[in-house]
Amino acid sequence: MKILVIGSSNTDMVIQAPRLPARGETILGGQFVMNPGGKGANQAVAATRLGGKVRLLTKVGDDLFGQQTISRLKNEGILTDYVLIDSRYPSGVALITVDEGGENTIVVASGANMALGEKEILVLMNPIEQATIILLQLEIPLQTVELAAKTASNLGKTVILNPAPAYPLSDSLLSKISILTPNQTEAQMLTGIKVNSPETADLAAQHLHKKGVANVIITLGKEGAYLCNEQTTQLIPGYPVEAVDTTAAGDTFNGALAVALLEGKELIEAISFANLAASLSVTRLGAQSSIPYRYELEC
Ligand code: ADP
Repeated sequence: MKILVIGSSNTDMVIQAPRLPARGETILGGQFVMNPGGKGANQAVAATRLGGKVRLLTKVGDDLFGQQTISRLKNEGILTDYVLIDSRYPSGVALITVDEGGENTIVVASGANMALGEKEILVLMNPIEQATIILLQLEIPLQTVELAAKTASNLGKTVILNPAPAYPLSDSLLSKISILTPNQTEAQMLTGIKVNSPETADLAAQHLHKKGVANVIITLGKEGAYLCNEQTTQLIPGYPVEAVDTTAAGDTFNGALAVALLEGKELIEAISFANLAASLSVTRLGAQSSIPYRYELEC
């Protein structure tokens, strides 16, 4: 296995409703759908569909959602031998209400995801050793992310951290990261600099690079992504598309980036590949349902 994703897996339960209910109110909704989700699982799916050999290290509960998550991951072709089952907690779920205008409210019960803990160092070690690229996000305990990054960086692996959802990170963690991929909100949280243009992305990226991150890539929505490293600071432009739903754009970007690097593409070329894959995902509805397959990219 060349790409190891260590992160969350959830079941998203979505109800479409005429409007969002007020406090204490019950309303009758419309259609109900259940979708696989969680940033770890989404990024593992993206990397697999785009041609990577992927193992997902995640934790589910000993319940129906957990079983369904495992079978869906297997169907995608993801190696699931490190999907851990913890009978003390339920599998992660997100309860989502979407109104007619597309506005939503979301409550996530992380459940077993938050039990993917440091005491599993012995479980983490083996798959990290076997991988070339380690892909991390922040929907599992921060200590686990820190431990994984430290272990992987000591072994000379490429560590990609997608710092989502936004959360402050220590300089010690940042110094272990080969590639950090915040979006604009996350870059602002990490630097205090409001990021809304390539110019402000440059300031934030320089700030993070000075803190010890080898390569900073700030994703800028339709503008593309801004790269800052020792050699260069530049915008890698996005691909213009008719955007329908940007859910999972960042997850697609990160999965694609890992695959492109594994294939030996230079970083700038890899970012362009990730922009292309992510641009396709925003032309379709949903999270995992919008993630493209490699044949759709024609490269
Ligand atoms: P997130 O989805 O995490 O908030 P972004 O909005 O920055 O992150 O999107 C991630 C990537 O998805 C961008 O760098 C870009 O490649 C692609 N992308 C997002 N929105 C669009 C869009 N409207 N048109 C084309 N590409 C997009």
